[in-house]
Amino acid sequence: MPQHPPFYKSHRLVVFVGTLLFVGFLAITFSSYWVSRQAVRSAIVDQELPLAASNIYAEIQKDFVRHVQLASTMANNTFLRDWMLHGERDVAALTKYLREVKGRYGAFTSFVVSERTANYYTGEGILKKISPQEPRDRWYYRVRGMQVPYEISDDPDMAHKDAMTIFINYRMHDPQGHYLGVAGVGITFDAVHRIVADYQKRYQRTVYFVDAQGRMVLADANNRNAPQQTNLSDRPGLARQLSTILAGKSGSYDYHYANRHYLLNVHYIPELQWYLFVEKDESEALSSVHRALYVNLLICSVVMVVVLSLAHLIVKHYQRNMELLATTDELTGLLNRRAFFLVMERHMVNYQRDAKPFCLLLIDIDHFKTINDRYGHDVGDQVLRLVAELLRNSLRRSDIAVRWGGEEFLVFLQGCEIADAMQMADALRLAVEQASLKVGDLNIQLTLSVGVSGYADDESTDACIQRADMALYEAKKTGRNRVCSA
Ligand code: GH3
Ligand code: MG
Ligand code: MG
Repeated sequence: MPQHPPFYKSHRLVVFVGTLLFVGFLAITFSSYWVSRQAVRSAIVDQELPLAASNIYAEIQKDFVRHVQLASTMANNTFLRDWMLHGERDVAALTKYLREVKGRYGAFTSFVVSERTANYYTGEGILKKISPQEPRDRWYYRVRGMQVPYEISDDPDMAHKDAMTIFINYRMHDPQGHYLGVAGVGITFDAVHRIVADYQKRYQRTVYFVDAQGRMVLADANNRNAPQQTNLSDRPGLARQLSTILAGKSGSYDYHYANRHYLLNVHYIPELQWYLFVEKDESEALSSVHRALYVNLLICSVVMVVVLSLAHLIVKHYQRNMELLATTDELTGLLNRRAFFLVMERHMVNYQRDAKPFCLLLIDIDHFKTINDRYGHDVGDQVLRLVAELLRNSLRRSDIAVRWGGEEFLVFLQGCEIADAMQMADALRLAVEQASLKVGDLNIQLTLSVGVSGYADDESTDACIQRADMALYEAKKTGRNRVCSA
């Protein structure tokens, strides 16, 4: 098969299709990754975190309301009021009452402070005398001066080793409205702790509380992710925004810390003047999205390799077919004129190095028209095929037979002097003359006329063909069924 430039370079097409596929796949993969990431993020920011925050807040409120009611009942309790008005005599009766309150309502502590005696009573008896000079007792003097009936405060509880306790401090008055002191309960955040721990465990959320000064006041110590410092300066991304967060009361924020991206929801708790922080590490939530991305990329690569290999094979196949079509005569399967010139081009290049003689035969079937006229065009075609077959079979491997057009053939004889070429041409002519071509039931006899030319140095291929054509003309003119040389 002659070498010549392909109609289009298959590798260029494969590269083009590959690039198109690659860009397309990447665009689809990354846009779907981006969409899922946004979906995950907005689910966390718009639903998960606010829902968790308001649930926790609702639990806290429920606890508070219950205990505020309890403190109010104590402050208005007739026994307690009478006991104070009658000189605080039976301390055992009071402590019994306080113990009962504490036990029945699940408070962490219950207490009464008397204005008249400055005694601080708990379920265990008299704890101490309060004094305006003692910093720990400042709360009492604050409550004494209050205009509202009660306050909720988060002072440390001295009676219980300074445990983090929330106090409901309720003012007491006698029926005439004279100030008697303060009654109330202290509650710990056990219930809240439980919810917080539950949220952290089940939903990988970190929950903690921050006071108005930006100090962390309550967190689950078992949670590694929760900030453990009392201020949040160990998380610079968060610390930078802290003043905005505290001023904004409630809202959604995000910050980076240790190569992780945290989504944060803040919920202000007015009862405590605390902020409830609920946050989630986005990277953990995105791990499934990332996994999907890697799987997609893997699938895309496999699909690309398969598609490109297929494209390459198909293109090569079509290219070969097209080359074949472009260089082969459809009817006879011989090379066509175009192919002949390509072969000659190469041959002439070699000829410059190795000037071996070669000859051309131009062959024309005698009176072919009559065959067409007598038997029809299809039989004519069949005859052309048989002649081509005969040509092919009687030539050497190095010789090339070409369908020159119509019922004309050209034969290229390599390494051959004119005398040998004349001999071979005559042998061909004789073979055809003596053969009887079988087409269906028909036995067709025919003859050939042949013009032979030997290639002369410095001659063009066209000139050589021209001379063979002239010799053929000579053969026709002098009676056909013969071989003439130029
Ligand atoms: P001569 O060469 O001996 O002078 O006579 P001829 O009848 O062969 O001369 P001419 O070249 O005029 O006719 C060739 C005929 O071959 C004419 C054309 O119809 C026929 N022909 C050309 N190509 C084909 C083909 O592909 N199939 C068939 N069936 N006929 C063809
Ligand atoms: Mg002809
Ligand atoms: Mg003819």
